[in-house]
Amino acid sequence: MCAAFALHPATGQFGFIFGCFFAMPQEYRAEAAFSITSITTRKSHSLDTPKNSKSKDKFMHDIQVALAKHYVDNLKEEVKKGMQGKAEQGMYPGHAAFGYHHDKIARTIIIDSERSAIVRRIFEAYDNGRNSIDSLRELVRNEFGLRMQRSQVHNILRNTFYTGLFVWAGKTYKGQHPAIITPECFKRVQAVLDGRGHPKRRNHNFAFGGGLMRCAFDGCTVTAELHTKPNGKQYVYYRCSYGKGKCSLPFMPEPEISEKLGEVLKGIFVPDEVVNAAVESIRSDSEGAERRRQEQLSRCQQRLAVLRTRMDKMYEDKLDSRIDEEFWGRKNTEFRQQEVSLESELANLNSPASTDDRALTAQKILELANKAHFLYVRRNPAERGQLLKMVLLNCATDGVTLTPAYRKPFDVISNRAKN
Ligand SMILES: [Zn+2]
Repeated sequence: MCAAFALHPATGQFGFIFGCFFAMPQEYRAEAAFSITSITTRKSHSLDTPKNSKSKDKFMHDIQVALAKHYVDNLKEEVKKGMQGKAEQGMYPGHAAFGYHHDKIARTIIIDSERSAIVRRIFEAYDNGRNSIDSLRELVRNEFGLRMQRSQVHNILRNTFYTGLFVWAGKTYKGQHPAIITPECFKRVQAVLDGRGHPKRRNHNFAFGGGLMRCAFDGCTVTAELHTKPNGKQYVYYRCSYGKGKCSLPFMPEPEISEKLGEVLKGIFVPDEVVNAAVESIRSDSEGAERRRQEQLSRCQQRLAVLRTRMDKMYEDKLDSRIDEEFWGRKNTEFRQQEVSLESELANLNSPASTDDRALTAQKILELANKAHFLYVRRNPAERGQLLKMVLLNCATDGVTLTPAYRKPFDVISNRAKN
């Protein structure tokens, strides 16, 4: 029995940890999953174990490839952070909106005079309240000879970029690019658009809602419904959202669907011995990478030392007038550039070795795969839903069977577990 899990719900602490955990980016959740639930190992799962050592090697290889991919995705996350830094300085990291173009030399976004005229015309014409999206398209075609899609016109009217702002990763920033539209005009246009649109439906928080399941008959999202019996007792049913009309997917009571979804987690079960062997092999790879990093680091330090000695020597030569000012200026710039590039290389190599993190990530993921079902059966519906969302992209259902689509790298684990 899981000690952490049995204790914490009573103190309320578990809920808190769980909340933080789900505020994390998706990529880190699997990793964190096991830091918060250290559970004693169990060997009672009876799903297939790779039959011989050869298939075990193949399994480990596949998992390593998948985990390496996962790791690269995490690095992409780092790149994203770099872009965020750019955003904070007001430089839009993406492609400029229609009406602007990139000045490649100055590395700025500037107004495209022809296209910005179209944007201005669209806003003005919509702002007077006499035009629809379709009549705007007509107007643009007549006045500028340009055919635009409805969605394109709509996106222009909704884009804050034209007021000098931009949205990056869900946050609004003040951009360095010039505005085309005044904030007042933009605000009025939004009000008109909002008035014409339909209010969004309220989003209930059902354990297995939120796009976790898909109807196998027509591909619609499976949604939940709360029924109250005359005695006051409430039941949750899952059904097709009927996005494409009538559908033969039956109503599914929550306990039933909950149990079936739990079975899906057995599909990623990795036996203990495979977890241990894979972690061991990833760890030894990490050690190799760490050695290589150390070697690179010391080479880089040596080069920097040599360079600095040369710079000092040259400075003395200059003071003693053995070299002229012009030569010194040129050479000094060159050396400085080399120094900066070596320093930044050194900073990269100095940053804490990520290789250990990588082995740890791999271990957490494999342990999650190993214990997912074990954990699932011990949790309440809401927590079950959260656990499933860590592992599944979605799951198609025809009311009887479930066809899961696993997230990376669990997809690879599931494929291997089947063979
Ligand atoms: Zn359906």
